Order: sequence, then C-alpha cells, then structure tokens
Amino acid sequence: MARVYNFSAGPAVLPEEVLKEAADEMLDYRGCGMSVMEMSHRSKVFDTIIKEAEADLRKLMKIPDNYKVMFLQGGASLQFAAVPMNLMKNRKAGYILTGQWAKKAFAEAKIFGEAVELASSADKTFSYIPDCSNLPITDDMDYVYICENNTIYGTKFKELPNTKGKLLVADQSSCFLSEPVDVTKYGVIYAGVQKNVGPAGVVVAIVRDDLITDDVLEGTPTMVKWKTQADADSLYNTPPCYGIYICGKVFKWLLKTGGLEERKKINEEKAKILYDYLDESKLFKGTVEKESRSLMNVPFVTGNDELDAKFIKEAKEAGFENLKGHRTVGGMRASIYNAMPIEGVKKLVEFMKDFEAKNS
Ligand SMILES: *Cc1c(COP(=O)(O)O)cnc(C)c1O
Repeated sequence: MARVYNFSAGPAVLPEEVLKEAADEMLDYRGCGMSVMEMSHRSKVFDTIIKEAEADLRKLMKIPDNYKVMFLQGGASLQFAAVPMNLMKNRKAGYILTGQWAKKAFAEAKIFGEAVELASSADKTFSYIPDCSNLPITDDMDYVYICENNTIYGTKFKELPNTKGKLLVADQSSCFLSEPVDVTKYGVIYAGVQKNVGPAGVVVAIVRDDLITDDVLEGTPTMVKWKTQADADSLYNTPPCYGIYICGKVFKWLLKTGGLEERKKINEEKAKILYDYLDESKLFKGTVEKESRSLMNVPFVTGNDELDAKFIKEAKEAGFENLKGHRTVGGMRASIYNAMPIEGVKKLVEFMKDFEAKNS
C-alpha cells in the first residue's frame, strides 16, 4: 500500500489512524454484526455515535450550552441560503467579500433580501483581508457575514471584524478545528466537513439558541429551517450517518492529540516551513499578503505557466498529489489541513528546493 501526500483542498486528507479504525470496523461495528453504513439512524448504536460526536465537538471547541450543534446536509452551499432564510428578519445583511465562497454566499443572500457589500479585497484578486475595524454597518442589518478562511485564495481573518454589535455569521469550512475559536463571538458558525474534518456530505452548524426560531422567511423549506433539525437533534430525517461517524473519530483524534491549542501549534509550525521557503525562494512566490496568510491553504506560483505545469506534473510523479491551484486562479496550492503530517510539508519543501535548483 502506498499512500501519497495529498494536498487536496477538499475532499482532503484524513488521519490515517481514523481510516484504519474505520476499516477495522467496516464489516462489524463493535460486535453488532453490521457496518455503520447499514444500521438504522434510530438505533441505539447510532444514537451513541452521534451523541458522542456532539459531546466531543463541544469539548474540543468549548461550545457553550446556549449553542446548538447540528449535523446537516446540502454542503456549505446550502447554508448560503439557510443563513438569510433563518436570520433575515429585516431582509438586510452585510457581507465582507474575500473570495469566491463569500461572493457565492452574497449572491445567494440577494435572492432573499438586500445584501450589502461592507468591504472587499477584489481589487487585488483577494490576496488580503480588508480592514474591518470600521465597516459601514447600519442598524437595520440582521447580521454580518464572513468567510473566515478563503480556501481558494489562501487568506484568513486573523482578527474578527468589528460588527458594531451585530450578529457575526462565519463560514469556517476550511479552517474548522484548525485552532481554538471563541464561539461566543459568533451567532452562527458552519463548516462543510470535507475540508478539515471528514468525508463530504456533512455540514456542522453551531447556532446560538435564540437564533433558532419559527420566525423564518416565508417559504423556507422545512429542511432549511434550523429549528427543524435542532428540535430533532439532527435526526429529523436520515442524517449522513457514516460521515458523522467518521467526524466523530476525527474529533476523538483531535482530543487525543492535545486538542485545538496543540493543533494550532502544529499547524503554525507546518505552515511556517512552507512560507519560510516561499519567502526565500527565487523561483516560487506566495500570492498572499503576509498578514493575511492562511495556515490551511497555501497558494504559490512561479510566474510562468509552463513551469507551474511542469512542477505540478513532476510533483505528482514524486507522490505529491493535488497541488494544482483552483481552476479559476491557476498556479499551485498546497492545502495542509490538520491531517497532513509535518513530514509531508518537509518533503514537499525539499522537492521544491530540488526543483528550483534544476530549473533556474
Ligand atoms: C468548499 C467550500 C465551500 C463549499 O462547500 P460545499 O460543501 O461544496 O457546498 C464553501 N465555503 C468554503 C469556505 C469552502 O472551502
């Protein structure tokens, strides 16, 4: 068996020991004679799996009791609609545009009300996080929306925006569980788990109690109304059982390896190896302003499309997969999520040094 170093932006690398454990339990989950894939979501066994997953996530993130945790479907993209449908009482909200996912959420919100652009980094192809200390937030806005880590452009909010007392909603898909967060600063956090936590098909939504009500926009589908799933403990309909089970294992892996404080240290150390090299290299360049650099997604270029293509091809042959940048931006991108081992980053940098020596 040869595992590659997988730098995919998502679906992405998972901890090997989680995959091995899942493989061991594939045919017979802990003596019950069937796979988690085959069992009723109403069974006692699955009830334990989902309850433990929630409890472990609460422990990891120190989620206060007045926040609900939901395991949902429809991807992060369905939450682009769920956010306005559940929160736009005044039909007005502010959006900070830091990349494609924020833009998509913004466009979706416009279907339901007045979505206002509060700030944008489009002027420099989203290579930085705009100053959010004094945004033109008005009193009638229902919330302020950010995409906290920009998967495609490789930027991250290092400081949350000053929302002037308004509710903060954050798409944390690509930085979820990469470092500690203060949940109390948010009204809503949601994340598609296929970036940093599990297999595609699960979205974790953490929503403050008072925001989960029947007072949603007219026409909101039952499944999009958060209250439906909150009241049913994520079991209103059949949940993505197997995905939740894998997420649960990843939560346990994170707890066992020191929790989010420790994870942040490891992620900083990993990212530093790559950024330090990009800063000294004469061939490769990072594309993001230093203060805005993501710990999870690291885009870089040589400045020459042919050389980029050559690098991606040779890297693949050497066992470094999925380094091609997003189809809309080109160049390269190394996603170095929680489960990417530090050796993977060290070996990638060695390979880049070698490539630089041979091509300059
Ligand atoms: C991948 C991604 C999405 C889209 O997720 P889906 O689950 O495919 O809908 C949204 N936001 C961010 C930040 C992402 O990285």
